[in-house]
Amino acid sequence: MYTLKDELARKLNAIRADGTYKDERVIVTPQGASIRVSDGKEVLNFCANNYLGLSDDARIRAAAVEAMQKYGYGLSSVRFICGTQSQHKELERRVADFLGTEDAILFSSCFDANGAVFEPLLDEDSAIITDSLNHASIIDGVRLCKAKRWIYKHADMRDVEETDPETGKSLKGLERCLKEAQGSHAIMIATDGVFSMDGDIANLGAICGLAEKYGALVMVDDSHATGFMGAKGRGTWEHCGVAGRVDIITTTFGKALGGASGGVIASRKEIVEYMRQKGRPYLFSNTLAPAIVGGTLQALHILTGSTELRDRLEANTKLFRRLMTEAGFDIRPGEHPICPVMLYDEKLAHRMADDLLDEGIYVIGFSFPVVPKGKARIRVQLSAAHSEAHIRAAVEAFRKVGRRLGVI
Ligand SMILES: *Cc1c(COP(=O)(O)O)cnc(C)c1O
Repeated sequence: MYTLKDELARKLNAIRADGTYKDERVIVTPQGASIRVSDGKEVLNFCANNYLGLSDDARIRAAAVEAMQKYGYGLSSVRFICGTQSQHKELERRVADFLGTEDAILFSSCFDANGAVFEPLLDEDSAIITDSLNHASIIDGVRLCKAKRWIYKHADMRDVEETDPETGKSLKGLERCLKEAQGSHAIMIATDGVFSMDGDIANLGAICGLAEKYGALVMVDDSHATGFMGAKGRGTWEHCGVAGRVDIITTTFGKALGGASGGVIASRKEIVEYMRQKGRPYLFSNTLAPAIVGGTLQALHILTGSTELRDRLEANTKLFRRLMTEAGFDIRPGEHPICPVMLYDEKLAHRMADDLLDEGIYVIGFSFPVVPKGKARIRVQLSAAHSEAHIRAAVEAFRKVGRRLGVI
């Protein structure tokens, strides 16, 4: 007889046997460059999205406490009933200014923003064209809309259709998809600004160019870029020099901007206005907590006033990439603080991450199915919170473990 209990036990065992079971390491301190895990060990953290080191910033903590004192703990309401405070409106104004858009609308998370953004804008006669490596929340958001779907081969801008030698499936480039989608109502291209496994940056110059040629809208999820990519940290649109050409930006407050939670859609005023009427995760989920609104406002205030943190992150990233390359490691080239150390072998990647933890360096090994088979790696993430000494200590540990395991 089928019982769900037995079925789940069987599936959990299969996940363990696969080596893809996810254990959660318990941290007993705030997030930061140096953290303590529950067995009492102090480790240097190189796997958080704490890009600017703001997760435990004293100014943000103080602003969050102050906002909570002034506006209370929670609002017990969605925005349109009685969940909009003056500071929610102020944050929407400030985020729109920071991202260079007309308006912005807050969500509990970027996952929710991506769950909201497609369905109201794209009817069944519209087209959505998405990069094959887009984040899970974009994939789920696309599933919720009725538009016809095209998936283009990751980062492939060409007018081509090829057969994948491994799977036999057809692979298309973006321009081919755009051609096939001509005649649809709205056509939207959706892409991550930065792809989190490789740290590669979407070619927004080419994407916006094609969008203009074929009359499509461009939606960019800048979760791994807002706050630090580009000279003023405004994101990939600034980095790629496409100001004003991206129609919709979604992003998170849960990474560089203090790392608590919350997300946003920033766009033209009609799109934002329509989202307030029709975006389901906005209409039917509670408003962002006052402390998070106050903390995020402070994060934007800090980043608008100075580029010091994104500059330090950039310097740290360059230093780590240079030292690791000199040490003989195979680093995926790039400029993003996501820095994949390629090991290719799945077991080796996990073994190396474990050994590095013993050396006091907290990093994570990634293997199939999170990355393609045979492309296992350790993903290192740099932060402005790291000192030069932290980075040198990490490279030293990589050298020691790398030599022992025969990687270098
Ligand atoms: C982290 C991330 C999200 C999810 O953001 P949350 O605010 O944590 O829900 C969405 N998209 C991308 C590309 C991300 O990296």
